[in-house]
Amino acid sequence: MTELELRPYQAAAIQSLRLGLGEGYLRQMLYGPTGCGKTALSVGLVKGARLKGKRVAFLANRIQLVEQASRTFRKYGIDHGVIQGENSRREYENVLVCSIQTIAKRGIPDVDFIIIDEAHGVAGSKDYRGIIETFAGKPVIGLSASPFAKGLGKVYDNLGGPLFERMVIASSIRELIDDGFLVDCDIYAPGEPDMTGFKQVKNRFGELDYSDMDVGEATDKPELIGDIVTHWMRLAKGTPTVVFASNIAHSKHIVEQFLAAGVTAEHIDCYDDTDTRRETLKRFENGQTTIISNSALLAEGWDAPFCQTLILARPTKSLIRYLQMAGRVLRPSEGKTRALILDHSGTVKHLGFPTDDLPLELDDGKPKKSAQAKKKEKLPTACAKCAFMKTAHKCPACGFAPEKQNDVQMADGELVKQDRTAKKVKATQAEKQQFFSELLGLKAMRGYSDGRIANIFREKYGVWPNAMEKLACEPSKETRAYVQSRNIAYAKGMKHAA
Ligand SMILES: [Zn+2]
Repeated sequence: MTELELRPYQAAAIQSLRLGLGEGYLRQMLYGPTGCGKTALSVGLVKGARLKGKRVAFLANRIQLVEQASRTFRKYGIDHGVIQGENSRREYENVLVCSIQTIAKRGIPDVDFIIIDEAHGVAGSKDYRGIIETFAGKPVIGLSASPFAKGLGKVYDNLGGPLFERMVIASSIRELIDDGFLVDCDIYAPGEPDMTGFKQVKNRFGELDYSDMDVGEATDKPELIGDIVTHWMRLAKGTPTVVFASNIAHSKHIVEQFLAAGVTAEHIDCYDDTDTRRETLKRFENGQTTIISNSALLAEGWDAPFCQTLILARPTKSLIRYLQMAGRVLRPSEGKTRALILDHSGTVKHLGFPTDDLPLELDDGKPKKSAQAKKKEKLPTACAKCAFMKTAHKCPACGFAPEKQNDVQMADGELVKQDRTAKKVKATQAEKQQFFSELLGLKAMRGYSDGRIANIFREKYGVWPNAMEKLACEPSKETRAYVQSRNIAYAKGMKHAA
């Protein structure tokens, strides 16, 4: 049995919840970022309740999380029963680990208080709201790393108040980094797919995000995947790496290109059977496999502190999803002092650093400035020379400080760097389509590669031509001259680099 040792901020958070309850706050949200020790907090809450003779139900929304909680409680010597479909065991009634789906069907067990794991999903779940309504009048504690999710502070008449009435902050990400419980990270953002025209739909946290199908369409291209491999080779070669891809097919294509480059890589998804999945993860853990790629499976409940590099290949607008993915590499481990994020999705540019302080307030459903809008003034940008994500004028990674648009030459002949220095032209979709069609016309005439014209397009507009239709037309004089000038610049850059 493992003894529970609470870090000072964990003990303080539990004490604060107790005081809150004393002041009449029945439904409280406990915020702790990934790495704050949610396990210790849960165990501390349950043990504290047992000392007072209270009966507790711990609610989780997925089988894996039910099993994980049960294992944790066993490890810390907490006798407990499990209510989860056919796996239910009720030899102990004082502490019950429950699947939300099962008790939504069978009713809430007779307990004095409820702890809800991953509680950012509560507002969007009828099962959870039903349980909280039935349980009204008794204490509920939600645990979440994303308590800003929509509707968590919304007022419900049948509850006589907000869903959650008070938030307790265990620790901020910055504090955890300062105290060595998390590591800081460096981020490079060498490119992003063109998401123009793709719609956003509500995800299960109530946030707007792109659909898996759309992000797949925008990102699953050989040239973009080639970019991922090239940059990993340059910046992260040999480091244990997790890739979050747009969908399963995209993930498999990324693995194929890494394998082709001689890097050990494996794909993993929810359709693998348990043994296959376990074996794959084991090979990653013992270093046989350097890169593990998935679409969403590893974002929650997977812990691999030794994992040092994260490749974001799935564009997302969801702050919750982003923080979940980034959280995978921020845990400290022996010999690891910083994590590395290679962002090929444009996410960091839009949502900021994953280590930024968050707007920590319960959302009451009323319109207000969005989390992103609040963060806007300090959003990072990519260094024009090395693609390092920074908020300062001068790049802390390579020392480059931009003066004018034209003062940078490619440091080592890489196109991406040249791209970032070119002035981006504002244009309508129709203008972009016209230019792209003309490039296709030139391609047919001169035999340029797809990659070359995609690069020329991106140089001009700052995005890949993914949203463009592949309709060729006669190139205009201007476009011919433009491409000619880019070819000269490109050749100069290559020569300069050589
Ligand atoms: Zn730089």
